[in-house]
Amino acid sequence: MKQTSNRNVLRLLAIGLVFHVVYIASVFDCYFVSPVVHGMQPFNAGFSEAKRLVLIVGDGLRADSLFSPDAFASIPSRPDVVAPYLMDIAQNRGAFGVSHTRVPTESRPGHVAIIGGMYEDVSAVTKVDFDSVFNRSSHTFSFGSPDILPMFARGATQGRVDEWSYDEEAEDFTKDATALDVWVLDELRTLFHNASSDAHLDKTLRNDKTVFFLHLLGLDTTGHAYRPHSKEYMDNIQVVDQIVKDTEQLFREFYGDEETSFVFTADHGMSKIGNHGDGDPDNTRTPLIAWGAGIRGPLPDVPLSSSSSPSSHDAYSLSWPVSHLRRQDVDQADIAPLMASLIGIDWPVNSVGVLPDIDPAHAGYLAPKGGEKDLARAALTNVRVIGEQYRVKHEMKAEHTLFYRPFAEIEDRGMFSNVARIERLVSAGEYTTAREESAKFIKLLLKGVRYLETYVPFLISPVIKPLTKDVRNDRYDRLLIQAIVIAGYFGWAAYASLSIFPISASSPPRRASRGHHDAVDLLASLTIGLFWGLFALQKAPWTFYVYVAFPCFFWREFLVKGYPRFSSYLSEKKAKIGGVRYAKAIGVGIVVVGVLQSMVAGYTVREVWSIGYGFLGLVWPLSWAPEKAQKHWKLLCFWVPSCLVVGVFPYLPVDKTESAALVSLGADLIMVTGVAQFAVTSIDDIPLSKGIPVGIQIVLVALAKGVTSDSIANLQAKKGLPFVNQVSGWVLFVLAPLLPILFSRTHRDTPTRLASIFLGFGVCFIILSISVEGLFYVAYSWNMYLWVEMEAAYRGDGTSLAVASAPGTQAGKGKKALKEKAKTNEKTEIKEPEKTKEDAVKLGAGIYEFKIDDLRIAMFFLFFVQVAFFGTGNVASISSFYLEPVYRLVPIFNPFLMATLLVFKIVAPYVILSAAFATLNARLRLPPYSLFLIALTLTDGMTITFFLSVTDTGSWLEIGQSISFFCITSLLLVWSAGICAAGEYVMSGPLQALPTPGEEKVKTE
Ligand SMILES: [Zn+2]
Repeated sequence: MKQTSNRNVLRLLAIGLVFHVVYIASVFDCYFVSPVVHGMQPFNAGFSEAKRLVLIVGDGLRADSLFSPDAFASIPSRPDVVAPYLMDIAQNRGAFGVSHTRVPTESRPGHVAIIGGMYEDVSAVTKVDFDSVFNRSSHTFSFGSPDILPMFARGATQGRVDEWSYDEEAEDFTKDATALDVWVLDELRTLFHNASSDAHLDKTLRNDKTVFFLHLLGLDTTGHAYRPHSKEYMDNIQVVDQIVKDTEQLFREFYGDEETSFVFTADHGMSKIGNHGDGDPDNTRTPLIAWGAGIRGPLPDVPLSSSSSPSSHDAYSLSWPVSHLRRQDVDQADIAPLMASLIGIDWPVNSVGVLPDIDPAHAGYLAPKGGEKDLARAALTNVRVIGEQYRVKHEMKAEHTLFYRPFAEIEDRGMFSNVARIERLVSAGEYTTAREESAKFIKLLLKGVRYLETYVPFLISPVIKPLTKDVRNDRYDRLLIQAIVIAGYFGWAAYASLSIFPISASSPPRRASRGHHDAVDLLASLTIGLFWGLFALQKAPWTFYVYVAFPCFFWREFLVKGYPRFSSYLSEKKAKIGGVRYAKAIGVGIVVVGVLQSMVAGYTVREVWSIGYGFLGLVWPLSWAPEKAQKHWKLLCFWVPSCLVVGVFPYLPVDKTESAALVSLGADLIMVTGVAQFAVTSIDDIPLSKGIPVGIQIVLVALAKGVTSDSIANLQAKKGLPFVNQVSGWVLFVLAPLLPILFSRTHRDTPTRLASIFLGFGVCFIILSISVEGLFYVAYSWNMYLWVEMEAAYRGDGTSLAVASAPGTQAGKGKKALKEKAKTNEKTEIKEPEKTKEDAVKLGAGIYEFKIDDLRIAMFFLFFVQVAFFGTGNVASISSFYLEPVYRLVPIFNPFLMATLLVFKIVAPYVILSAAFATLNARLRLPPYSLFLIALTLTDGMTITFFLSVTDTGSWLEIGQSISFFCITSLLLVWSAGICAAGEYVMSGPLQALPTPGEEKVKTE
């Protein structure tokens, strides 16, 4: 019987896993569609300003680090100007500004924006090939990181892009990363040198329209390792500055002309804790400096026209030495058309960049030989390039959509007549008007492109359109998918709730009548048939067919199996239903929704978790009956402060600096806790066979503390990670969590097993922690331990784990009477809660009976799951992790291994939670997974909210976060299931020692 129920749980979980993973994809179909299309005609502005272009990217360079004199205020030896060469260019012979990137502020999307002129959105996980400036050049020579260069060679015509990159092993975080930058310069020098003996190379180099790409990774590596306000980062900027100088010198010597344009920028910035990825302004503001052939010189910072603002500077740049000069900001993708115009190549066909020079109200970057005329031609080209993308997307949509509604603002006025009008203006010599018109029309085209990218075919939108006049017209097209997805999540909750209300053994449910069954089947088939027919007509993606299948399946199951089951449950329990009547049930429903929505709020307002702990510690005990509270006053004395202490952690600021002292303190407390938890009564009574394994584990914690302190000291002194530290770190890291399994034979009682698991994972936590995480681990573990006791006390099982399982110990003696009652089991003794014989029969059959109070426990569980995630202070958003601790094990750049380690760090508190939850399940005499199944039914209450709040507009931080939150809650189910399974596994020995309901039944008789 138990096996069948386990198999049912597994089946349910498997369906749940597939469902949630598939529905994660729905967010992309609903909100994000890859912008990359094919079949566009390329366009060229028809003039060129330079023979060649040099693009230098300082990976991870913030704009203010380069320009601001305050960036390194804390470093005594700082020079007045960090990058004198680049600053001199900006002041005397070039144009500059801030290039604003979008999220994710990662290297790949940053480079795609600069070189391809397009923004990869989240759908770019598929990594579609795209067009680029490199692909349109006569030849591109690229130097730098193996993580960046290949994607441009891959998307380009065969043989057009040459790459020189170092081995990944060279990206050692603990060594001086400026070597990576110097390497790039050396390779460039070698290339020019080789040309003297290689005629073919020499000819290729001297062709027009060549591009040189210098990718300088050093700053990114240095910023991650030492943070961007460090001396190391400053020194690296100086190295980069020198490389720019030497590069210009090399070109002057080799070509002996002034036909080279230079563009210097960065792919993304760097937050003050040495991260990037999200939309923090420190990550999105990068420098742009352009100079050389075709580029204007510095302009005074005066208004260009009556309509433009008096100064181009704001508080961000007021202190810069260039604040008296025009700062011309661009969006990152605008750099691609700028580069294409400079060397007169076809513009990348996927580019949505807008040449900064188009709008006559802005200063721009170009100083073309053809003057105004060339600027107008460039403007026309910009219109054509984006117009082509609009055309292709429009035609695709028209083909795939039933009742297609084109973008009204362009279709009404006519795309081609607009282009023709701008062409006429250019030929008539009305250049300024042509540019103004182009700027306006480009805005409209981009809006139209966005409209098409977010267009979801929807049959009834013409009906809804008049009803939703206020809503932006690309929003309501999503209603279909949103409706399907919501029906799916509710369907899942209904379907999963079937497992909470299983077929009662005592009174088998009335079987669904034949007619009812048939009617439901017919309805389900009709619904699915209707939708599939609609999708076929619209040539919808195959995923749509899958999305709609889930709600049909879930609701069919629920209506066929659940309806008779619930009606029999209600008729059987009408009198008691755990004391709940309909009104109360509604009240409970409101509370559940309220709690779930509060947890939703906790994702953005972390204080919610602290408030939750305040509730657990102070309000929940108040709801206890006074006798119960009196009886367990000692337990409450521990519980209240424990909650308040854990509640502090989510409240702590997210930005943390590495603190060897706090890491060591955490290790000390882990050791103390381990000893205390193990020897909770008296150390004299512990047999040697148990003492030795725990002793070994404590020694490992002490070793981990020593090794970690030494590694921190070495890394902070930039001595690199000693090999012996790396090896011993790994040995401890791998060995420690294995010990609880190896020692599982000796740790057969619950407290010892818990202590053993706690110590085992504590070692990993110390090695990976940066400051207070070790303290959190200790506080959280205590809290979990006490939670089990609290729940058991609340349900009327007042015997503590320690007492129950430490026979002969002092506290144990106090309960001698109890002990004698259950002599059969020497490991555990637990006072039997008052249960009716009927209950015992049900439990014996592994049947779970739903109680309203179990909803509360399930919500507590969900709360703890999420606190474990946010409480460590390591996870601010999914995109920001501290990397310092990882260098103690992996000093070279290895994203996969590093991510694995960070995930492992998140997992450690969950092992404790899982062990506690499994213990709780057993202590409350519930069949395995029954509490979890309730949690399972509830989680999508959060998922739906996050799904609906996913946004593709507003700030890019919000977009990235809204998606990560949705993904986290979608996978919460799988995650919690893993926690429960892990708990049942790691606690299997001790929990079997608890009297099983079957045995109990025998005993009571
Ligand atoms: Zn980067």
